[in-house]
Amino acid sequence: MRRNLIVGNWKMHGSKASIAELLGGLKQRLPASPRSELAVCPPFPYLMWAQRHLPGGVQLGAQNVAVEPKGAFTGEVAADMLVDCGCRFAIVGHSERRQLFGETDAQVAAKTQQLLTHRLTPIVCVGESLSAREANQTLAVIGDQLDALVAAIAPPDLALCVIAYEPIWAIGTGRTATPEQAQEVHAFIRSRLQSKLGADAQSMRILYGGSVKADNATTLFSQPDIDGGLIGGASLHTEEFAAICAAAE
Ligand code: PEP
Repeated sequence: MRRNLIVGNWKMHGSKASIAELLGGLKQRLPASPRSELAVCPPFPYLMWAQRHLPGGVQLGAQNVAVEPKGAFTGEVAADMLVDCGCRFAIVGHSERRQLFGETDAQVAAKTQQLLTHRLTPIVCVGESLSAREANQTLAVIGDQLDALVAAIAPPDLALCVIAYEPIWAIGTGRTATPEQAQEVHAFIRSRLQSKLGADAQSMRILYGGSVKADNATTLFSQPDIDGGLIGGASLHTEEFAAICAAAE
């Protein structure tokens, strides 16, 4: 039985004041002992500030991590620093990092390994562009992204990863994949993982991300292979994020 996971990706938004207000609002609205796992991923400078204000039952995650463990890499943040700041999760391979910063499948795999080495849970994002979907290439694109991960990470570690399916055309666009479209890809992801991991693939969580809102969360999360969501824009709004968390309970 998989436990749902809801993760807020705040991207490059927030301030000390807005974060304290958002987390204070969530504290009032979230159940004291949620059945789902909940996490928020603030920008790096606010990790420890957010940790100070986290409601009970909400964990901390980062939005990225360095490939290297330490050294002369100006501007990078190492996995052990994330642990030191209280993180339990980190997102890797978000499409914004792949598209805007040229992150490759090999770098995504190396970052994933760094996180696993430091006992952090990687949330590995995969997703197809609109043109790939329109050319009927969705499963081929996702398959290639997954294969790069599966080739680089040994099976026991691979099973500890969370995969987030985020169609690029649905991120921040207000255009959500239908529950059927999302379920088709999630089932494909699980079967691809199963060919490497066998039965252990059944315990892996596969999140959906892309314009999840309170009014579409319930139907998405009720699909058999959707185990929660990676939430961007809506995670910055107390009522909306709390309602999405409630939909996963
Ligand atoms: C994201 O950036 O991971 C995301 C899913 O964004 P949004 O929910 O705003 O589409």
